[in-house]
This record gives sequence, structure tokens and C-alpha cells, in this order.
Amino acid sequence: MDNVSLDKGMRFMIEIQNLYKSYGNLEVLKDVSFSIPKGSYTTIIGHNGSGKSTMAKLIIGLLEAKKGKIQILGQELNEESVYELRSHIGIVFQNPDNQFIGSTVADDIAFGLENQGIPKMQGIIEDVAGRVGMTDFLSAEPTKLSGGQKQRVAIAGILAIEPDIIIFDESTSMLDPQGKASINAQIRKLHEEKNITILSITHDMEEVAQSENVIVLENGEIAMQGTPMDIFKQEDKLAKMQLDIPFGLKISKELKKRGIFKENVCRLDEVVEKLCRLK
Ligand code: ADP
Repeated sequence: MDNVSLDKGMRFMIEIQNLYKSYGNLEVLKDVSFSIPKGSYTTIIGHNGSGKSTMAKLIIGLLEAKKGKIQILGQELNEESVYELRSHIGIVFQNPDNQFIGSTVADDIAFGLENQGIPKMQGIIEDVAGRVGMTDFLSAEPTKLSGGQKQRVAIAGILAIEPDIIIFDESTSMLDPQGKASINAQIRKLHEEKNITILSITHDMEEVAQSENVIVLENGEIAMQGTPMDIFKQEDKLAKMQLDIPFGLKISKELKKRGIFKENVCRLDEVVEKLCRLK
């Protein structure tokens, strides 16, 4: 839209100010404010029903807030700006069923690219399919895939487009631990190599451990916010919300108890690296 001026030099990709959302009488977000710096990797965690998905839907303009303000790329999200702003955001939902349009996996990945007018499609399609482990399924019918495979294809579609912001809404929930780990590595790569702003709603604490900022939602309010270590230090508070700490940190804490580590680390690869450096 011509009348929407985007401020690409801004510091924050997403700014949420005093946001409220209700479904009928049920208040699901209460006075939520946070900012997502450009190029950062933020995870949102919280018990089921804490308001995480509602937050994602508000950010892409699928839902309207009751009160408060959302700014994306420095521009206020409203009826006029929503379509332009949405073209800068890629979202992968938990259940990708209704995200499929093409008759084959390759068509489906191509659809997003065509929309953006991106050339050299075949190369890009093969590259992103390989990155999510779906090379052998390019001619398959998307509807016949398993839940986890559908999630991989949906992620491939977003990887192909490389929007300014990617929102993952429990997009690896149907994958086994190995599948989660390989997609997490792709997300990390997007963040580190492409400087894409990532906002990921997740239950996977291994993914949280690799992010930079963590927002903990509880009953529609921000209960905690900080680095993964800031959050995981408060293990008792997390346990009350039925949230666990990552496996890497559990091992690290054991090693610290035994005097092998002086400082804790959150990620398993950091634990391995630290162990390898020990004399
Ligand atoms: P989360 O993603 O953290 O599980 P949601 O944002 O999906 O939380 O839901 C927050 C609350 O709002 C829950 O109590 C849920 O039952 C309720 N809710 C979500 N969507 C709707 C809807 N379309 N209509 C009514 N209630 C809803």
C-alpha cells in the first residue's frame, strides 16, 4: 500500500504497548508490553491457555486488540497498514493443514515465492526442501504427509521467502526430538546468518535455550522476561507454571555440583564444548 511508510532503520521490529484482548468475557491478554529488537531471536513460553497464540494472531492482524498498540517495522498496525505489514512477516502455525495450497510439496513452496515475484525458483525450492529434510517429497501431495512432514514443508515455504520477521507458533510440536533439533538448527541459522527477526512460540526448552530473549506469559500477563539463563535460574517459579528447564542445563547443574563446571550453560552443545575444553 502506497500510503504506508516503513521505517527500515528502526531499532525494534515489533513493539507492543499495553495490549488487551478478550474473547467475550474471557480476558486473555492483560496490559502486555514488550519490544522485539531488529534481528533478534525471541521465544515466548507459557502454559497452555496463557495467551501465546492470541499474541501471534494479533501481531499478524488476524485478530483485533481490545486496547493497546502494535507497531511493526516502525509502523502502527491498523486496518490500512495490515496487508502491507503482513507481507513482511512469515508465520508457521502449529497445525499447517490450512496453510497448503499447492498440489505437490514443490508447488506449495513455489506458491509463496511466486507471490513475491522471486526468480530462479527451482534452485530455491530444492535448497529449502533439503534444509528441512524433505527433498524426497517434492512431488508428494501435501495433504498425504504426516503432521511433522507438513510442519517441515510449511517451514520450507517460509525459508524460501526470507521475510523480515518470522513467527513460529509451535511449529515443531509434531516433530520427534531429532526433527526438532534439525529445525532448531535451521532457525538458528536464519537468525545468525540472515539476521531475520525471529519470534517463536514454543514448548521446546532446547529451542528456548538457543534464543536471545525469553518472554514468559502466565494468564495473559508477562510473568518473566530476560535471557534464557535469567529465566531458567528461576526453576521453582517455572515449575509452578509446569515449565521445565533444558536438558543441557540439567547436565550442566550436575557437573557444577560435582565441581567439574564453575558456571552453568543452557545448551547441550555448550556443555559438550566445555567438556572438550577440560584438561
Ligand atoms: P496459548 O497459545 O498460550 O495456549 P491461546 O492464546 O490459544 O493460548 O488461548 C488463550 C485463552 O483464550 C484460552 O483460555 C483459550 O481457551 C481461549 N481462546 C483462544 N481462542 C479463542 C476463541 N477463538 N474463542 C474463545 N476463546 C478462545
